[in-house]
Amino acid sequence: MTEYIGAVDQGTTSTRAMVFDHDGGVVARHQIEHRQILPRAGWVEHDPAEIWRHTQEAMREAFQGYQIRALGVTNQRETTVVWDRRTGQTFGNAIVWQDTRTDRIVDALDHDRRGEIVSHRSGLLPATYFSGAKLQWILDNVDGARDAAERGDALFGTMDTWVLWNLTGGRVHATDVTNASRTMLMDLDTLDWDDELLGFFGVPRAMLPRIRPSSDPEGYGTTGDGVPITAVLGDQQAATVGQVCFAPGEAKNTYGTGNFLLLNTGTEPVRSKHGLLTTVAYQLADEPPVYALEGSIAVTGAAIQWLRDQLRIIDTAAQSEELAASVPDSGGVAFVPAFSGLFAPYWRADARGAVVGLSRFNTGAHLARAALEAICYQSRDVVEAMEQDSGVALGVLKVDGGVTANDLCMQLQADILGVPVSRPEVAETTALGAAYAAGLAAGYWGDTDELRGNWHESRRWQPGWTAAQRRDGYHQWRKAVERTLDWIEI
Ligand code: ADP
Repeated sequence: MTEYIGAVDQGTTSTRAMVFDHDGGVVARHQIEHRQILPRAGWVEHDPAEIWRHTQEAMREAFQGYQIRALGVTNQRETTVVWDRRTGQTFGNAIVWQDTRTDRIVDALDHDRRGEIVSHRSGLLPATYFSGAKLQWILDNVDGARDAAERGDALFGTMDTWVLWNLTGGRVHATDVTNASRTMLMDLDTLDWDDELLGFFGVPRAMLPRIRPSSDPEGYGTTGDGVPITAVLGDQQAATVGQVCFAPGEAKNTYGTGNFLLLNTGTEPVRSKHGLLTTVAYQLADEPPVYALEGSIAVTGAAIQWLRDQLRIIDTAAQSEELAASVPDSGGVAFVPAFSGLFAPYWRADARGAVVGLSRFNTGAHLARAALEAICYQSRDVVEAMEQDSGVALGVLKVDGGVTANDLCMQLQADILGVPVSRPEVAETTALGAAYAAGLAAGYWGDTDELRGNWHESRRWQPGWTAAQRRDGYHQWRKAVERTLDWIEI
């Protein structure tokens, strides 16, 4: 019987299970959205029990009838959950990466020298984005959490760890180097939890998962159905693998809820001077880790969701294209969707969204177009930072993710960057990357060169704007960004 590789992608808006064949083609998939729980301004939560139910259902639907040789798990990163190892009951909801409730905890780090230590050791900048402060918040604020953690009964996990623990019936409490590199608790050089960092956030070591390579035949156990779980990696790192960015200098940009541009920098971590993060890209079993520079943008596709769900000027995300295409430009409007503050390269928790340049002439169509432009300009900010850090000019941008279905947006991206934008045939690069990592560990694929042969371009957008259009547009964008800073007091 033909064998396949399964992947679970536990994302920010949905959980999907997918089945891939030896060519990296998708043969089956099932996807279920979960609730976004928004209890207060700046707070974003998910119900971990709902996510686990959806994971099981998605796997049941997608995997039915296929012989699955091995399973890879990929996940929304940084989102933090704590549960009781005896009962599986969670201490409240998961706190999602976009949540800004920890702004004071993070701000305090910046006021003594702890922020510098965090940056140097973890490769991350002190920000609400990462897990460490979210974990501290749960320990400090959810009844019983700290006592249980100190007794050794409470476990911490990002969503990979939560899904893995449940998949293995509570037998495996582990995470991989890529997910651990997003917690502010791991030392990037030793790839182990760091006692000083744990001390900053008051985290007992006993609650932390074991850290394993991303692709690992041994470390992750088997599912209840006996399928070996042989890979775990964060979604952006998985997409980097799915886009076969295995050589230093190769980069990809994923357009989902937020945007994440990762540049492979090889086996030594490169420290950014321009507001990028240093992170682990992936680690294959028995090999050294490969590092990346990352530009993370909190709100891109989520701005389209906001037009749909909050402003209700569109019924579906896809309609943003039609509406934006009904006008030739944004009519002087700039929209900076700094809903969770601004991430890379600004890292300003005090920023909030702004629509500027309005006149009475403007319509929802201009706003929709400004939203698409904002997605592209935020990526340009990150590309500029990456070129400054690496000294290498981008030749072509490999893209993937939900927003790349929007043709106008991808054309604008090529125009705004002035370089071609290239999308592969398999747009599900996140799940594909998890499958690749799992299949490498299981011997389904021989090596990364074999995987390169699976990558085929499906579409390329060529830049059209003049240099003057690009310069003026970007200048306008930077002025709009200025307007969003210092908006709230922390
Ligand atoms: P995630 O993995 O973060 O959940 P996906 O890759 O599934 O994200 O992409 C979903 C995001 O893409 C949503 O934020 C949605 O608003 C956006 N999106 C989907 N289709 C389109 C489209 N045609 N135009 C613009 N945005 C889109």
